[in-house]
Amino acid sequence: MTFKDLAIVAPILSALEKKGYTSPTPIQQQAIPILLAGKDLMGCAQTGTGKTAAFAIPIIQHLYNDPQRSKQKRTIKALVVTPTRELAIQIDENFVEYGAFANIRTAVVFGGVKQNAQVDTLRKGVDVLIATPGRLLDLMNQGHISLRDVAYFVLDEADQMLDMGFVHDIKKLLTKLPKKRQSLFFSATMPAAIVELSNKILGNYERVTIQPQQTTAERVEQGLFFVSKSDKPELLSHIIKSRKPASVLVFTRTKHGADKVVKYLSRVKITSAAIHGNKSQNNRQAALNAFKEGKIKVLIATDIAARGIDVSELELVINYDLPNIPETYVHRIGRTGRANASGASLSFCDVEERPYLKDIEKLIKQKIPVLDHPFVQAYEEKRAAPPPAAFKTPRKVEKPKKPKWRGARKEVKR
Ligand code: AMP
Repeated sequence: MTFKDLAIVAPILSALEKKGYTSPTPIQQQAIPILLAGKDLMGCAQTGTGKTAAFAIPIIQHLYNDPQRSKQKRTIKALVVTPTRELAIQIDENFVEYGAFANIRTAVVFGGVKQNAQVDTLRKGVDVLIATPGRLLDLMNQGHISLRDVAYFVLDEADQMLDMGFVHDIKKLLTKLPKKRQSLFFSATMPAAIVELSNKILGNYERVTIQPQQTTAERVEQGLFFVSKSDKPELLSHIIKSRKPASVLVFTRTKHGADKVVKYLSRVKITSAAIHGNKSQNNRQAALNAFKEGKIKVLIATDIAARGIDVSELELVINYDLPNIPETYVHRIGRTGRANASGASLSFCDVEERPYLKDIEKLIKQKIPVLDHPFVQAYEEKRAAPPPAAFKTPRKVEKPKKPKWRGARKEVKR
């Protein structure tokens, strides 16, 4: 199937060709016809499947085909709400690229930076607004944004929105949206709270499900290193120096862990940068840009900061720490092997992390192949070692006998 088969207009086809897209991904094949027909959509899919193009292309096409648009001042016709700044910036970049020949103007707003530049862009008039919830409501309250003309509304990464506590903001936002609109709802998982939220947003909708297992776990080459925690830094530098990947994203469980890895790598002359919630927005964006441009080959990230990071042709993902939530593993390895590309993911697993590994393998319905490495000995020793003293049956401790007279008590005290 080609994009032409999906009845996409020429200016968008040219932009997709320029991007090097040859054929639509499964979610694009399924969602684009539904959306071009003007129906609501519930998309059960995560980043890495091509979902941004699946919603951006039909929206751009609707705007392009709107005969009224060129006659009026530009007002916000499409609103995309997404949980993180990184995702917002990325979605905006995609709209700009896919709409390059369709006379589309976009703006992106998110918190953590001054609002002046964002307000200036909005003042000039935009067709598409991409926003994180907090800053969106803030600018609406200040009168810089009106949603009166919104005809297309996308709620992206809905499960992450709820996880991050945005539910009240979203509910507030819904009261400000015009009733007559096309709504698109995307979520990687569909727990009951998400279904309930989707019912508030969607009218008569069609559902498209792209299972992460089909899209990533099967395509990405996976490997597992059993390694003791203390050897992880050395194993990491060994892999980077021997495989020489053009780009590698390393996941740690904590912000502190991410900083420690950067420090260690710098000691062994490997340049890297960390992105996590303790870094300023500018700092995170600078690191991400340097990574995207290939100036930094190694990026260390925590899960929240990395979700949705879109680096085309990311060669390698390393799970420096295994995640305790198995779905997170699928999200992480989905950063490589995006769309139709292939990629590799290597995971480090210490003795304490074995229960996490069990859950992951259950979810992906695969055994991750175990790979050999120079530091395996220490792991084996740790595994074979008797349990730490704290877990041994405590010896019976005799209670000190109560002294029978005053003089003796004094003696005990001493
Ligand atoms: P997304 O799921 O929207 O984050 O997209 C994941 C990645 O796939 C991005 O790098 C897109 O540029 C890329 N992509 C989206 N659609 C296609 C396609 N039809 N062919 C090749 N790459 C694509």
